[in-house]
Amino acid sequence: MRIGIGLDVHPFKRGRACVLGGVTIPYEKGLDGHSDADVCIHALIDALLSACRLDDIGAYFPPTDPSLTGISSLVLLEKVAALVRTHGFEIVDCDLVIAADAPRISPHRSAMRAAMAAALSINVEQIGIKATTCEGLGFVGRREGIVAQAVALLDTAAAAPAAAPVLSASDVPASASSASTSTASAPRTAQDSARTSTTHTPDH
Ligand code: MG
Repeated sequence: MRIGIGLDVHPFKRGRACVLGGVTIPYEKGLDGHSDADVCIHALIDALLSACRLDDIGAYFPPTDPSLTGISSLVLLEKVAALVRTHGFEIVDCDLVIAADAPRISPHRSAMRAAMAAALSINVEQIGIKATTCEGLGFVGRREGIVAQAVALLDTAAAAPAAAPVLSASDVPASASSASTSTASAPRTAQDSARTSTTHTPDH
């Protein structure tokens, strides 16, 4: 298992579309940046890259690259999902929190989850979004920009359950044998055996 965290901030600018989590949200201004400035996806990308212990978003998608001007961050997210899998990981779960005093996020949460899940090729249930306001405080409160934070949990793609250890009587330490002599000799029911084998199944 690996976990990664990502944080991003973008300022508002008039004349730009407001794109959050891959969804264009009706608002009087949008976020400024080299791409579509989707602050949610950028935070998520950094969480995914960090969980793989790779460089951050700026190393993979530099703001100096003219081919990335105005690009949809969903495209970048798809590329990062492929990169994650190339490095032998599968995406287990993602969660995001958006700090914005405007626009309202909640009417668009479902669409944002669906858009990002599709780009990542995961189920909608594997990605969560919540939003908070900053109660008028700071640059978020003055509606000058938005902050997004994300966490991503990865697992190795080929993770197979470890083989259950096979114990024989000779593997049991002498002290344990003598301590459990009274119960070891008791007849065991099929139910007991089933319960024991279930208990020893590795937890994954
Ligand atoms: Mg960014």
